[in-house]
Amino acid sequence: MITATAWAGKRFAVLGLARSGAATVRALLAGGAEVVAWDSDEARRSPSLRLRGEGRGEGASSSTTALATPPLPTLSPMGERALVFADPLAIDLAGFDGVVVSPGVPINRHPIAAHAVSTPIIGDIELFAQARTDLPPHKVVGITGTNGKSTTTALIHHILTQSGIPARMGGNIGLPILAQDPLPAGGVYVLELSSYQIDLTTSLDCDVAVLLNITPDHLDRYAGFEAYAASKARLFAMQSDGHAAIIGTGDATSAAIADTLPHTTRIAVPAGATAYGPALAGPHNAQNALTAIAVCEALGLDADTIRAGLATYRALPHRMAHVADVNGVAYVDDSKATNPDSTAPALSAFGRIHWILGGLAKSDDLDACRPGFGNVVRAYTIGTAAERFAELLAPDMAVEIAGTLDAAVRRAAEQAQPGDTVLLSPACASFDQFSDFEARGRAFAAAVEALR
Ligand code: ADP
Repeated sequence: MITATAWAGKRFAVLGLARSGAATVRALLAGGAEVVAWDSDEARRSPSLRLRGEGRGEGASSSTTALATPPLPTLSPMGERALVFADPLAIDLAGFDGVVVSPGVPINRHPIAAHAVSTPIIGDIELFAQARTDLPPHKVVGITGTNGKSTTTALIHHILTQSGIPARMGGNIGLPILAQDPLPAGGVYVLELSSYQIDLTTSLDCDVAVLLNITPDHLDRYAGFEAYAASKARLFAMQSDGHAAIIGTGDATSAAIADTLPHTTRIAVPAGATAYGPALAGPHNAQNALTAIAVCEALGLDADTIRAGLATYRALPHRMAHVADVNGVAYVDDSKATNPDSTAPALSAFGRIHWILGGLAKSDDLDACRPGFGNVVRAYTIGTAAERFAELLAPDMAVEIAGTLDAAVRRAAEQAQPGDTVLLSPACASFDQFSDFEARGRAFAAAVEALR
């Protein structure tokens, strides 16, 4: 676990007790903080969040049960009642040092923003930043961008660990960062940072900060595209002088941010770039690979070591992952493609495609996918966007409204010929029909399995 001595005697409220919230509570308690924690799901308000084996709170078990009506319980001196369950919205937050929320909380419209007037609203990445002075000497790489964050994060982590450098992945990927064990001296923390996470972070000084690209996404959470871009640019504003900035200049918005930072390493993907490794095909992965190479160079790795890491990297699940061949037809799971820009590379990667798309649309058009339309034999639309997308695509290709993923897989299987590819690359969020993109990818694999 990662914790900070600076938290001793401080007070934090933690809103949301899923994985990262629970890890946050444990880390804060370990640092000696007093914590008011809350989750609307009663099952998550579990006394097991208390630290075990530290002797804290013995004889004070009442402090760990949910309060029926939660006025602020007086927090007694640390060590007795360090953890209390109460809704931060129902208590006076004056005197608190921070309200820790999960990046899933839309702070642009959640009532906590108005309630926590003078208390900073932060996330676990900010707490990690505060804990850094207690960690052995290390470096932090922070990676943001609309698309390619996970791939680039996993790739950098892979190259580092392959070369014998201790490294951890965290942020938007893998285990909550505060739940992980500190690295020995010389280690590198590789953090995937969504713009929501950056919004909840004020003091993360990345040794290497990375912006891959910016295209319209998540606009329900921002006043507009400019505000979304500004959120990403803050990753660089938090850096101290001399720390490295690496920015993909494939889109005008990212290029404009690079222009404001004279020391930036600019990543431009050359036309006709070839695969940088067996799992890194396509121009989008060229951007990810070139970025990872630049990061590893900034960390002092030599070219041979980097090349060896690229060669042994394996793709993450749900990113153009080949699921199975059935009757000569390839089934590919690209469930992670949750916006048209991230679907575009998949449509360019295969020949005769049966394209399953739809879900909760983030944009009203599919223009970013247009260059790949010629590869699509037939489209099958699902979810909330099914009708709208069918209408949009009808002038360009054969399309049918399938409604559900199961129906789409069955219809595609009926019509695909040997050599064709059935591609789930939805260009939409999954939340209308699935708990997340991973559940959607698993449902796709199950539907394919059912064809056999
Ligand atoms: P993120 O973590 O930013 O969502 P991932 O690495 O998980 O990114 O990739 C998500 C999707 O975006 C994949 O479906 C992939 O096809 C596409 N993608 C990956 N890298 C890029 C890139 N550099 N530019 C555009 N699209 C990309």
